[in-house]
Amino acid sequence: KEISTRENNVAKIKVVVRKRPLNKKETSRKEDDIVNVNENALTVHEPKLKVDLTAYVEKHEFCFDAVLDEHVTNDEVYRVTVEPIIPTIFQRTKATCFAYGQTGSGKTFTMQPLPLRAAQDLIRFLHQPVYRSQRFKLWLSFFEIYGGKLFDLLSDRKKLCMREDGRQQVCIVGLQEFEVSDVQIVKEYIERGNAARSTGSTGANEESSRSHAILQLAIKKQPEIKESKRNNDGNESKSGKVVGKISFIDLAGSERGADTTDNDRQTRFEGAEINKSLLALKECIRALDNDQIHIPFRGSKLTEVLRDSFVGNSRTVMISCISPNAGSCEHTLNTLRYADRVK
Ligand code: ADP
Ligand code: MG
Repeated sequence: KEISTRENNVAKIKVVVRKRPLNKKETSRKEDDIVNVNENALTVHEPKLKVDLTAYVEKHEFCFDAVLDEHVTNDEVYRVTVEPIIPTIFQRTKATCFAYGQTGSGKTFTMQPLPLRAAQDLIRFLHQPVYRSQRFKLWLSFFEIYGGKLFDLLSDRKKLCMREDGRQQVCIVGLQEFEVSDVQIVKEYIERGNAARSTGSTGANEESSRSHAILQLAIKKQPEIKESKRNNDGNESKSGKVVGKISFIDLAGSERGADTTDNDRQTRFEGAEINKSLLALKECIRALDNDQIHIPFRGSKLTEVLRDSFVGNSRTVMISCISPNAGSCEHTLNTLRYADRVK
């Protein structure tokens, strides 16, 4: 029997902004910190010039579910964003946690520790007698969407494809899933997957900024031995039926969506893909928020992959990462406007 997660009082959609500190380069250039955080609100002081070149500041104010300043630790980020969702995973919830923002704003820094902390908590829940007796297990997978294609980060970047089974179930054919019962093993998988992310001659951050990395932790109910012998055709029946899951998504750099006028054909193509996926994502979250029946998930590979997380009991956390320096002002405002449309 399904337990209503509404009773849990966990918001369906939560939008959190995280500001990183000025880095060494910005400090040495004596750049101003133009972002001022005040509880769950923030003000951006945009430096501007009048026609006669006199300088002035335009203020932009925003308000979100939470705003985390440069002193907030990753542990606190976990407590605000993911921790409240963990118990709902055992009650048939599909949760998604996104990091959005321009390259260098702290998406990977913010996202990397979250799955490990979540796995730690999920494993602790699994040890409770009620779940142990139900044969619940934790499964991990990690893949990347790059240029509209899927690659398994835990299986030598094997190319993957998607299949839909008509019951709103998305299946990524060939995606390796690993049962994990120990936090140390989870850590090793995460490190392995991170090392396999797209890197090119231009440097790791440059290339990974054009891909979406998706790490999923799923709670599955292990089938009885008899049952698994009977249907040994698909991935699902071997590992069991999904009870609930949480996906952690380190999105492509939001500025990459603007790479659509670049001279390089490949860069232009990737830019258009990223633009499409970030727009589709925003539309899906908005549709979710309005309890719309029709969720426009077909808009991009990213939203198609996340289809089953946009129906039924879903929880979405968007962490918008921003840089504090004056030079990033335009990107920062774009990120905040995107987040503002989602909330
Ligand atoms: P992105 O993934 O958005 O491109 P990164 O997560 O790689 O950005 O962050 C860029 C740099 O800033 C990294 O060196 C990272 O360690 C540092 N950084 C990001 N956020 C913080 C933070 N909150 N505190 C300290 N350093 C940070
Ligand atoms: Mg990154």
